[in-house]
Amino acid sequence: MYRIENPAVFVSDRVLRDEESLDRLNAFVETTKAPGWEVVKDEEIPAMLERPVWKGVRGKAGARERIDTPVFFFNTFRFDGKSDEVRRRIAAANPGYDADKLPDYYLGYRHFVWFNSGQPADDIKPNPEHVCRPCWRLNISPGCPHECAYCSMAGFMAVGLNVSEYLAHLDRLVEANPWQRTYLVDDASDVLVLEPEMNFFSEMVRFFGTKRDRYLIAHTKSANVDFLRSLAHAGHTIMCYSLAAETQSTQLERMSATTDQRIEAARKCQQWGMPIRFKFKPIIPVRNWRDEARDMIRKVFEKTRPDNLSMTALMWMSFEDLEACMDLDMLDPASVDAARKAAENGADHGRLQPFPHDVRREIYEFYLREVRAHDKNTPLTLSTESLEMWSDLGPALGTAPATYTCGCGPCATPGLKELPENPWKIARRNVPSR
Ligand code: SF4
Repeated sequence: MYRIENPAVFVSDRVLRDEESLDRLNAFVETTKAPGWEVVKDEEIPAMLERPVWKGVRGKAGARERIDTPVFFFNTFRFDGKSDEVRRRIAAANPGYDADKLPDYYLGYRHFVWFNSGQPADDIKPNPEHVCRPCWRLNISPGCPHECAYCSMAGFMAVGLNVSEYLAHLDRLVEANPWQRTYLVDDASDVLVLEPEMNFFSEMVRFFGTKRDRYLIAHTKSANVDFLRSLAHAGHTIMCYSLAAETQSTQLERMSATTDQRIEAARKCQQWGMPIRFKFKPIIPVRNWRDEARDMIRKVFEKTRPDNLSMTALMWMSFEDLEACMDLDMLDPASVDAARKAAENGADHGRLQPFPHDVRREIYEFYLREVRAHDKNTPLTLSTESLEMWSDLGPALGTAPATYTCGCGPCATPGLKELPENPWKIARRNVPSR
């Protein structure tokens, strides 16, 4: 587990009523030597979030004071479907407070999420600005101790502790969705950082180790992997590393593992029989990005045999946000100029900002050349890019939106060069059943 000293700890009163959760809480307090913890009822959560320690972790990490120790809220997952009722109670106890805005993960209702690229749950089609696969995603501990400058989930963690109940419900979800073969955990956190002491992600690895033809995908920037060596994973946990080159990993993704540490961690996992993948995501065009990317890609192929690769330039923020959360002087001047001009021309680029199409295309073409210089066969694809970018680069990548395999798609099982069937057609036949 990461070295976390004297963290501020808040605990939902629901934890005190669950022995398993209490045991995990005590394991955390013992390991971190936390000075103590404060009990919080649901109705008191709004006031808790107004405390300075919580206010200090609002917004993108790069746009606020640096913090070294995250703040923690421990609670239990709820599967009673009573989220609205709980929110009404909170609203009644906090006049003027909009309880509908309170994130689910403080109330224990963020566990299995139907992801559909921001579109209505049953509107199953490619989002032209965000080509990705509709599927169920797993959340266990939203928030993260890493301090990635562009991320608003940094500096706190909301962790559910009733793992056995979580796995019992997960088992039902997996049985009810035979079409989905892989499950991503956690798109709002890094699930390696509290292991093995919290024994949550470890239990999920064991769970999928017992499943025939079902896989867990861990999305991570962490080098904390040694605990995985002895787990009965049966090769059913896929380690999907978000990989960035030197300057970005050390200066814009503080507290996370460096480029070399992530590649070495992936090498170890592969040696222990786990499939590994890399996502060059998000790619931030820093000064000298080409040389750094070339060096990173060389090391990937010198040390590992990835199952597949994918890439995404930094997006989902305005030029204004970019300016607020990182020093533009660190970035490639030509890319910054293009982003500034795109912002000044006032065109709404939605998710596809701050870097305009041509800047992102140049980055992807460079990565493609560098990857193919080392390897002709490993699938390389675009992740959450536009249909326009796919029509430009699909032929060169040798794949297409309806067939590409990728880092965390629901049908992207290990060893595939392409998907056997259109994932939107599959999902349309199966939306959503719990
Ligand atoms: S590792 Fe992921 S969740 Fe953690 S701060 Fe970075 S981007 Fe956010």
